[in-house]
Amino acid sequence: MSLVYIGLGSNLGDKRANLVKARDELLNIVHVEILKESIIEETEPVDYLDQPAFLNQIILIKTELNPENLLKKLKSIEKRFGRKKTIPKGPRIIDLDILLYDDLIFKSHRLTIPHPEIKNRIFILKQLVEINPSLLDPLTGNCYADFFKKRTD
Ligand code: ADP
Ligand code: MG
Repeated sequence: MSLVYIGLGSNLGDKRANLVKARDELLNIVHVEILKESIIEETEPVDYLDQPAFLNQIILIKTELNPENLLKKLKSIEKRFGRKKTIPKGPRIIDLDILLYDDLIFKSHRLTIPHPEIKNRIFILKQLVEINPSLLDPLTGNCYADFFKKRTD
């Protein structure tokens, strides 16, 4: 069993409904159990600025799926939402990212874990810390809460 932090984001259509629906679809995946959820927060676009604000949430799940199979499931949910191939970092109905998978460090052409944007995005740090204040960065062994505090001091 692995503990996995999933990042959910939406900035098109009924964003809140999209997040709730994606969460329900996560629940429907065999071998996935939801343990904790952060609050849903509005965040301004980061890299590609000319697009609507996002709603973001992080959900902690317990799963028997390996990272590649979990990514496949997440992509199939995105597909069911009718997500089109879009500009990288651009507008999307739903985005489901694997942020952390236990303390795994993994890189392939399809998957980078930990998700490279964690430390660039203050809202990801905030929501990770909200779910687990003692969570450690697998790459450095540092506590995300300390990192978040430094960024916001
Ligand atoms: P964004 O980077 O804006 O989330 P996409 O959702 O379109 O863009 O993802 C692009 C690709 O990123 C996916 O096809 C997936 O293979 C790859 N990827 C790499 N690492 C991860 C990860 N940790 N979680 C989800 N997708 C990832
Ligand atoms: Mg994505």
